[in-house]
Amino acid sequence: MARREITATPAPPDAAERRRAEGVVAYPVENLPPFDAAFYETARREMRKVSETIIPPRDARTFSVPAGHFFRIACPEGSQVGDLNLWNARDLSERFFSGKTRALHATHVTTGDRLWSTLPWLRPMATITDDSLAWYGWDADGAGVHDVIGTRCDPYTNLLLTGAEYHHCCHSNLSRALAAERNISPREAEPHIHDVLNVFMCTGFTRDTHQYFMKASPARRGDFIEFFAEIDLLAALSACPGGDCSASHSSDEAQCHPLLVEVFRPAAHKLAHWAPPAASAYSRSHGAG
Ligand SMILES: [Zn+2]
Repeated sequence: MARREITATPAPPDAAERRRAEGVVAYPVENLPPFDAAFYETARREMRKVSETIIPPRDARTFSVPAGHFFRIACPEGSQVGDLNLWNARDLSERFFSGKTRALHATHVTTGDRLWSTLPWLRPMATITDDSLAWYGWDADGAGVHDVIGTRCDPYTNLLLTGAEYHHCCHSNLSRALAAERNISPREAEPHIHDVLNVFMCTGFTRDTHQYFMKASPARRGDFIEFFAEIDLLAALSACPGGDCSASHSSDEAQCHPLLVEVFRPAAHKLAHWAPPAASAYSRSHGAG
């Protein structure tokens, strides 16, 4: 039942007028440094691959990306959604801030958008420098690709909704991967797992009830999204048990494929005038003196 059908509050006489208020973009981004496509294009021209990681289906792996390196996430075999976590490699408390990234850019991100870190740092952790699915844009259902509106599939919500335990949700996969990386238990790793960038996932909100929906990812074998690491990154990527997320997740029902991560180092002279972004300069006084 739609929410409006169960509320009994009558609309006031000026309801139409109140609804006519014009929306303004909450966070104008004109003052952010512009996306320097030429810089990334030049840097990409002379680079060599320094590592490669295969993410097995229904599982996750970590990988490191030094500042100033590119990394690409690809579908080497078939359509597959990936759930990405990013941390400052030196301090796990600085991590990807999905909510503010959404507020600054959009519900779905593509070339030119940045992945921002949590407060009090609030700086670009990575910049999206290429996206083979950039052509998708927004479809007739209002859906887009690479979402920052979903969180990650997790065993708690699954238990809540189905009454069953499933251990290969992205949240659990990411917890196990970080635990293995840091030689800690999954329980110790779990608080570091955060809302993700849903790579290749095609999602939106239903027009009538505004509920989160997913549909078959348009990604095909060979599709990729490329990032430039703005700071030293530790990353974890889960190959979602939902596969292309066309029907279900949080189970072994969907057909799943591996994901491929490649890290590239540009020639040093290409980065001669580049420096990692500084953390926010806010005083942190919060008005308390
Ligand atoms: Zn998932």
